[in-house]
Amino acid sequence: MLDIQHIRKDFPILNRIVNGKPLIYFDNAATSQTPQHVIDVIVDYYSNYNANIHRGVHSLSQEATDAYEQARIKIQKHFNAKESHEIIFTSGTTDSINLVANGFSSLLKREDEIIVSALEHHSNIVPWQMLCERTGASLKVIPMNENGELMLSAFDALLNDSTKLVFVNHISNALGTINPIEYIIEKAHKVGAAVLVDGAQSCPHIKPDVQALDVDFYVCSAHKLCGPTGVGMLYGKEDWLNKLPPYQGGGEMIAEVSFEKTTYASLPHKFEAGTPNICGGIAFGVAIDYMNSIGFDNIAKYEHELLEYATEQLQKIEGLKIYGTAKEKTSVISFNVGNIHPYDIGTILDKMGIAVRTGHHCAQPIMDFYNIPGTVRASFMFYNTKKEIDTFIVALKKAVMMLS
Ligand code: PMP
Repeated sequence: MLDIQHIRKDFPILNRIVNGKPLIYFDNAATSQTPQHVIDVIVDYYSNYNANIHRGVHSLSQEATDAYEQARIKIQKHFNAKESHEIIFTSGTTDSINLVANGFSSLLKREDEIIVSALEHHSNIVPWQMLCERTGASLKVIPMNENGELMLSAFDALLNDSTKLVFVNHISNALGTINPIEYIIEKAHKVGAAVLVDGAQSCPHIKPDVQALDVDFYVCSAHKLCGPTGVGMLYGKEDWLNKLPPYQGGGEMIAEVSFEKTTYASLPHKFEAGTPNICGGIAFGVAIDYMNSIGFDNIAKYEHELLEYATEQLQKIEGLKIYGTAKEKTSVISFNVGNIHPYDIGTILDKMGIAVRTGHHCAQPIMDFYNIPGTVRASFMFYNTKKEIDTFIVALKKAVMMLS
């Protein structure tokens, strides 16, 4: 069992007073909070060994290089990638997806098809639309049902010999649905298509095994799992990463440069042009250590309790509708109350120290499906408590009364 009160002490921000009330942070699906362990590593880096990596002979540069490459190995082990050079540091999920989409520009033909799901974040829609514009390939969409689940028979029907790529998130940020990625990967591979899984929302709740999944690309952002913003990773199977051309040109990603011809560095450096977010990468590794010290099974079990408890309490509020009632779901609850605009509810909750997200959550097609402008979204992490949920429910009832 998790000792939540003990865990909460790791997060200094949870002591904040916001608008005169103790902070209740339920906006974890947008970004998670940062434990002292990770903050300490950031301070230590800039206090003691800040230096550029890979090309320095001096001690600081070597220390920074070692720590950065150790972080890559931690990430490799965490996701169970076969090789550490299959882990590419990026600035986050969006950057990772754009890297792959850019690479496929030279691999796709006009008659090819790519498939996305109806449950995607804009960052897993727009880069593929841009790819289609560049190549002439067409974009197909796996539809969703009223519960916020993907319709797998429709997915089966979309697959054919022209399908070259399939993109799906592991967990929907707007609804919390856990998608059946194992099924999707298996079926896509049968027609020879590659699969990219957007793990931005799954990485704080699930420990994926990329080899067991046999997934071609898996991407995530450190800030969703207690790490800093501005850093993330792309896992790609070595064969795929070798096939894709470099994303950006610059220092670090070359073998040799002359005005006649430049040759590229081997993996992972081929995709890591310029000075990276060195401190961020190191802190990403420490965030993964921190999450593992708590244990992903413990995290999933406790967060599921929070999800069930909050769902039960919310369903008692008259006129409240929860969007996304999939059987396989993580600790994200999207809802509206009657015709009250989500923004109004969010603003009043903020006055009571409660942080929730309101709006379309960068998933406008989902909002269009439900014919709503947006939702209020409460999303929980392992450091949240049932007591916080109780306070939130009381505050929400007050907000609804004021706005009705
Ligand atoms: N995909 C999903 C499912 C997300 O939740 C997010 C972040 N909200 C992203 C992609 C984009 O992540 P980032 O902004 O860190 O690049």
